[in-house]
Amino acid sequence: MLIDAHCHLDFAAFDTDREIVIKRAQAAGVCHFIVPATTRECWQGVLALGQRIDVSVCLGLHPYFMDSHEPDDVAALGEVLAAHPGVVGIGECGVDARFPETLEAQWALFDAQLKLAKQRRLPVVVHCVQANDQVAKRLRQLALPAGGLIHGFAGSPEQAQAFLDLGFMLGLGGALTYPRAKRLHRAVAALPDNGFVLETDSPDMPLKGCQGERNEPSQVARVCQAVASLRGEASATIAAQSTANVRALFQPAAL
Ligand SMILES: [Zn+2]
Repeated sequence: MLIDAHCHLDFAAFDTDREIVIKRAQAAGVCHFIVPATTRECWQGVLALGQRIDVSVCLGLHPYFMDSHEPDDVAALGEVLAAHPGVVGIGECGVDARFPETLEAQWALFDAQLKLAKQRRLPVVVHCVQANDQVAKRLRQLALPAGGLIHGFAGSPEQAQAFLDLGFMLGLGGALTYPRAKRLHRAVAALPDNGFVLETDSPDMPLKGCQGERNEPSQVARVCQAVASLRGEASATIAAQSTANVRALFQPAAL
């Protein structure tokens, strides 16, 4: 049994064939999906998806969409979370240093969501690009009670360890299917069994051989195989470890 621990099934990219995409994932052994939200506008759509027995959802404000966010969005997030106790985490939130023009605002928004996560004792789903050390530092200062997930992790073994020391797990996805990702391969090989989950970030982060194509949750089976070969384990073992880790992190009611 596989879980896609991070996929954007609510995105418009899936509007025409969402059920087919889910069926294809099921045929590949994927039986649960964690769907994080990216903007206030999409919270209702994500919550609606969360009505499915095989979908668990997180709500947050993504740093990639700074133009979409309003000053009262974090307060609204607190209210929506209070009204929906089934939401399993806060996210997707974080920092993306590829966009320096909004970096200061990104940090303020991230910080506000981290504080909300601390208050509500929920795990956070963190998008962290070219900011691993700064994000680890901030997480260390805040000491979140329920930890979280560094999704789409692509850092070094040392950066991985820094997040693990904070009680965070690492989301492993398509990036590790590329032969040039040597540093990431070393990090993956060295992770403890309880330190990672498998994910796709669909429709983004295409795997090797699928560049330029829409990614989808069925591909988590290939991510699982790649992790298994890096760690010298059977795919079934990696799938079972990831599933146990998703349960421990998000405690989804339906799993
Ligand atoms: Zn994402």
